[in-house]
Amino acid sequence: MTRSYTVRTYGCQMNVHDSERMAGLLEDAGYARAQDPDTADVVVFNTCAVRENADNKLYGNLGHLRPRKDANPDMQIAVGGCLAQKDRDTITRRAPWVDVVFGTHNVHALPTLLERARHNETAQVEIAEALEVFPSTLPARRESAYAGWVSISVGCNNTCTFCIVPALRGKERDRRPGDVLAEVQALAADGVLEVTLLGQNVNAYGSDFSDDTADKSAFSKLLRACGGVEGLERVRFTSPHPRDFTADVIAAMAETPNVCPQLHMPLQSGSDDVLRRMRRSYRSERFLKILSDVRASIPHAAISTDIIVGFPGETEEDFRATLDVVAESRFSQAFTFQYSKRPGTPAADLPDQLPKQVVQERYERLVALQEEISWSENRAQIGREVELLVSTGEGRKDGATRRLTGRARDGRLVHFAPDGAAGIRPGDVVTVEIDHAAPHHLVADGGVRTHRRTRAGDAAEAGTRPAGAPTTLGLPGFGTPPPAPPQPEPACAVPSER
Ligand code: SF4
Repeated sequence: MTRSYTVRTYGCQMNVHDSERMAGLLEDAGYARAQDPDTADVVVFNTCAVRENADNKLYGNLGHLRPRKDANPDMQIAVGGCLAQKDRDTITRRAPWVDVVFGTHNVHALPTLLERARHNETAQVEIAEALEVFPSTLPARRESAYAGWVSISVGCNNTCTFCIVPALRGKERDRRPGDVLAEVQALAADGVLEVTLLGQNVNAYGSDFSDDTADKSAFSKLLRACGGVEGLERVRFTSPHPRDFTADVIAAMAETPNVCPQLHMPLQSGSDDVLRRMRRSYRSERFLKILSDVRASIPHAAISTDIIVGFPGETEEDFRATLDVVAESRFSQAFTFQYSKRPGTPAADLPDQLPKQVVQERYERLVALQEEISWSENRAQIGREVELLVSTGEGRKDGATRRLTGRARDGRLVHFAPDGAAGIRPGDVVTVEIDHAAPHHLVADGGVRTHRRTRAGDAAEAGTRPAGAPTTLGLPGFGTPPPAPPQPEPACAVPSER
């Protein structure tokens, strides 16, 4: 009988995409996605080590599964991802009912380890120290018919003192541009309209190519090459690092019509002292200069950020410097975090860890300031016509409000009344006029001005997903991109519609 599986994902987009690979591997091995995740024969946890208390949460979840496992020894539990890479056989010591532990470097081993655990009737713990198979060469079970993740690199060569990623994901490994483009083209050929290029530090892309091909402008070339992929309407990327964010990337964003006017640029702190102690090599002046250069070339770019409050030794003066940079930056959105120790990171051993109430109070001041800015930036959208890629599952109140939800080219979330158009599906493209703004979303209740049915919409309606054909490593160079296809209106680097 076919065994069913479910994958529970924690953490960042990288993990979300890795989970698509895990699901693809399992389906290739004959497993079927469980209709009801609570009765799956195999439960895979794809864990994150960045969030606070990640380990307590994992052991709590594993504890909940224990009665099921005791009642049905045939059921299997696998734990992968960053926390598995970090905790290794601690997991099977603390939760001996777990069948498989695998790391970030050997995702491909999951079906074999499950089989071996069943056959040998003992837990299998296998953690590799270096990447064995680039995850993008593995089959994928894509979640979306209209948007896809494409990994361009894994690992990171930076040493930010608060971050566990370099320890768990290793040094940066870049995929060859030909492989990345082949995957992007395969997705677009399957009707996918939007891709997000993924890496821990996307604009360092190219530094891992062998010496004779190392290319500092590899990322901007990749963006431009994506501009030539037929049928691809939106290109996004995450995350860049201010250190490597060069003028050629800004020019490529501005001059490639399907690269969206959206930038996520992690600030982390506005204090140069704190940035130094975080081992972030840029300073606030450089950060603000990048933002002004981006806005000079792409005037309506929506720029978001990450900020950590209460890093060890952060003074009130340091924190005020962050507030100043935030006020000047006019972020559309900020993901704000309260610093807390992550065992295994250099910052965990720094002196002057701040009391919780100090961190909380600063955090609340920062959130209040940013909410005001986000709201004011969103109010500036009122009256603008925007093009939306209709999404699924993003508007939790859509049922009650009879609205649908989509993302504008600049990434803003828009809830809209579908009046004036019938049969709008996720993956279709509509244009609407914004008539209301809240800090975290926009509303368009004036009806739909245009509705374009797409192949992605057909696929979403039929419940099919892109094949996500695996691609191989090793094709050198970019080659000459095919001639640019006619771009859908409005082109996303053209700001006039906002
Ligand atoms: S750039 Fe810094 S924060 Fe980002 S993954 Fe690398 S070490 Fe972590």
